[in-house]
Amino acid sequence: MQYSEPIKKLIANFSAMPGLGDKTAERLVFNLLKKNNKNTFIEFANALITVGKQIRHCKICNNYSEKPLCQICENMRRDKTKICVVAEAQDIICLEKTSVYHGLYHVLGGLIEPISNITPDKLNIKSLIERLNDKQIREIIFGLNPTIEGESTIIYIKKMIGQKFKNIKLTRLSRGLPMGADIEYADEITLSNAINNRSQL
Ligand SMILES: [Zn+2]
Repeated sequence: MQYSEPIKKLIANFSAMPGLGDKTAERLVFNLLKKNNKNTFIEFANALITVGKQIRHCKICNNYSEKPLCQICENMRRDKTKICVVAEAQDIICLEKTSVYHGLYHVLGGLIEPISNITPDKLNIKSLIERLNDKQIREIIFGLNPTIEGESTIIYIKKMIGQKFKNIKLTRLSRGLPMGADIEYADEITLSNAINNRSQL
C-alpha cells in the first residue's frame, strides 16, 4: 500500500529539510494526523506562510527581520563601534543569550567553502566592507566557527579590509571554543568567555 498523494507530498516537504530523513518526516506527519485536529494543520500552515511572506533580510546586517532594519540595527542603545561577523543569523541568537556583547552584527550567510562552491562573492562580504566606511566602527570581532572554513573566511576578509581601514581593530573569539566546534552548540558560559577574552588578529 502507498500513502495517499497529499500525505506523500507533506512527507516529501518535511524530508527535504536538512537533518530530517524520510523516517523522521513520516513520524512528524503521522503525529500531526493522529492529533486529528484541523486547527493544528491550519496554524502550522499559517505560521509557514507568515514567515515566508513577512521575514526578510535586514538592509544593514542581513539578520532576519520583519522590518527593513532588524531589532539590533534599529536599537539606538547598541554599541555602534563594534561589528561581530557571524556566519548565520542563528549565531546572533546564541551570542545575544550571553548578554556580554552589546555591539552590532554582520551575517555573512555562510563560510568560504570552495568544495561546495561557496566562493567569497556568494557571501555578504562586500556589504561588510562598505559598512567600514562608517567612521564610528572601531572593532571587527570574528565570531566564526573555529574550522578550516572559518579560518579561510577570516583570512580572506582580513585581506579585503587590508590597509584601507588600518585603524579598525580585528579580533576573534578566544580559543575557549575547541577546534571544529560549532557556535550554535556552545554553552553560554563558554561563549561569554570567548567574547570577553577575544584576541587580536
Ligand atoms: Zn540588522
